[in-house]
Amino acid sequence: MTASSLPQPRLPKNPPEPPEPPRPHLFPPSLVYDCRHATTLPGTPVANPANSADATVKRACVEASSVAKFYWDVFGRDSIDGAHMTLVSSVHYSTKFNNAFWNGAQMTYGDGDGATFLDFTLSNDVIGHELTHGVTQHSLGLAYSGEAGGLNESISDVFGSMFRQWEANQVATQADWLIGAAIIGPVAHQKGFTCLRDMAAPKAAHALAAQPDHYYPGIGNLDPHYSSGPPNLAFCKAATAIGGHSWDKAGKIWYKAQTGFGPSPNMTMPQFAARTRSLAQSMFASTPAVHAAVDAAWTAVGL
Ligand SMILES: [Zn+2]
Repeated sequence: MTASSLPQPRLPKNPPEPPEPPRPHLFPPSLVYDCRHATTLPGTPVANPANSADATVKRACVEASSVAKFYWDVFGRDSIDGAHMTLVSSVHYSTKFNNAFWNGAQMTYGDGDGATFLDFTLSNDVIGHELTHGVTQHSLGLAYSGEAGGLNESISDVFGSMFRQWEANQVATQADWLIGAAIIGPVAHQKGFTCLRDMAAPKAAHALAAQPDHYYPGIGNLDPHYSSGPPNLAFCKAATAIGGHSWDKAGKIWYKAQTGFGPSPNMTMPQFAARTRSLAQSMFASTPAVHAAVDAAWTAVGL
């Protein structure tokens, strides 16, 4: 056989298969446990929590899933750890418990005493706040003391507030920037309190936990819920000056600062501010107004 007599390759009978369409993202499971007023975690598992007749169970489940969707749709992050971690929430923790917390592995919500605080699942920004503590744990790994503690708290408020704005489809200038407005009980309301914290006015008298709004050396000696005031205000100022949805530009910068550089447990506020300034420049090089807004926002709070 000579080369010229080799059989010609046959054309395939059928055209090649088109590539498979991308599969829809599978969100992590959202489990809910009922503590039934005990303090043992996680408590008793609730079957089918997304359809529970207990509104607290249902909210904890649905809103945790919504936070996962927010992180995926906006930042491309798959759950708290970036690796599809199951979301675990415990509700009805203890009796008249006036708090919610992330314990390193799960969220826990108290029912509130009905006077100062209502059920802590009522504020979706509180749910976003607690889950974001998990994101921080798995990225920047900030400590919960010193300036790093204040940054840790602030990042939870920033993403909790952004999540609330995202659910309401609000632009930054429409947002009220309040944290915990829906968990303030009747007795606290009578005293003039309308929120736990106000990111746009940290010192405001209507905030149950009014905060400093200006950085000073030594601010790290405060409880992290107070030292978070200046970085909270900086994010609010940057996002409102940039305009549009807070998560489109300011949020993307903060997310990259939080997740793009590995752990930095003892990061200081000036270091975090410097990182976001530099990211604003590199990520939005063709829009210098973004860097100008971020720079001015930090300068305004003394950073
Ligand atoms: Zn917190």
